[in-house]
Amino acid sequence: MRLRRDSDGALHKVVLDVDGVECFVVRWTESCSGCCELGEAMMNAHHYAFDDKAHCYVGSGCDECGYTGKRRREWLAPFEFDARASRSAPPRTGTS
Ligand SMILES: [Zn+2]
Repeated sequence: MRLRRDSDGALHKVVLDVDGVECFVVRWTESCSGCCELGEAMMNAHHYAFDDKAHCYVGSGCDECGYTGKRRREWLAPFEFDARASRSAPPRTGTS
């Protein structure tokens, strides 16, 4: 296992994604889309309880979320997100 700092200086465990890029896992909790229909502008938010700890609304419960009304999500965030973005920028031309 390796540890690496992200651009904010926080240490994360290094995980390789399908392209072999070094990433770290970001996890969060969000409202279950199966039983918590918030819509585009959080139109129905008043129908649901708000979970302060998870920072999401709690749905009424369904098969999809195991009747908890919210779901755990995770995503692989590349350490060099900025580097990747700059690599796809057009090359500089002209004389220096
Ligand atoms: Zn649900």
